[in-house]
Formats: sequence, structure tokens, C-alpha cells
Amino acid sequence: MTDALHIKAFRLFELSQASRQEGGFQLTEWEGEHLQHCEECRELSAVFSRQISERPAALPRNGEINPKDGLYKNICCGFEVYIPAGNVFPDCQRHANLPTAWKRIDGDPIPRAADLNQKRSA
Ligand SMILES: [Zn+2]
Ligand SMILES: [Zn+2]
Repeated sequence: MTDALHIKAFRLFELSQASRQEGGFQLTEWEGEHLQHCEECRELSAVFSRQISERPAALPRNGEINPKDGLYKNICCGFEVYIPAGNVFPDCQRHANLPTAWKRIDGDPIPRAADLNQKRSA
């Protein structure tokens, strides 16, 4: 099982990143050709583009400390993981060593006193 025939994920990531800026990054010839024919690589590059264009500035990234425990979902592959506060957000299982972001899945919309007070003044 070799993935040498596919474009490396980090290359696709760089490509997606470069497409937001002016030039600079280019795929090699075989990579460009491969990308046109390989669904898998295209999909991955689309995931990265989406991830970058959405600019989840507010979302915590892998490597950051989780301030609040809860169930989190990563935005590239949708893996759901419970991460306790104080733990580091992990890499994506499928995209190790690549940046990803974790979105908190809110399971308990319990209104807090502060929220209720705000409603009163509205
Ligand atoms: Zn491929
Ligand atoms: Zn992933």
C-alpha cells in the first residue's frame, strides 16, 4: 500500500493556500496532470481550499490547548472526538502533521442567566 502515486497531502495543502495569494506555488507537471485525473486528490485539495477559504479564525487548531471540554469535530474529515479541557487538539487521523481546525459540537443549549437577561432588554 504505497501512496507514492498520489500527490502528497501537504502539497495539495500548499496549493490551496497559494491559490488565495498571488502565484508563487506551482505543482510539478506530473502533479498537475495527476490532479486532473485523480478524484481522491481533487477531493482532498477541495477540502483544503474550503478549510482555508472559510478561514475559521475562531476555531481552535490542532496543537492548541482546548479551553473548554466538549465534543469536537474536525473540519477536514468530520471526525468527532471528545476533548477535555487542558488537552491539546490533535492532528486529524487522516491528515497527520497538517493543519486542521476543530469545531465544537454544541449538544446542550442550556440558556444561561446572562443570556436571559440580555433577552429582557431586547
Ligand atoms: Zn491522487
Ligand atoms: Zn482530515
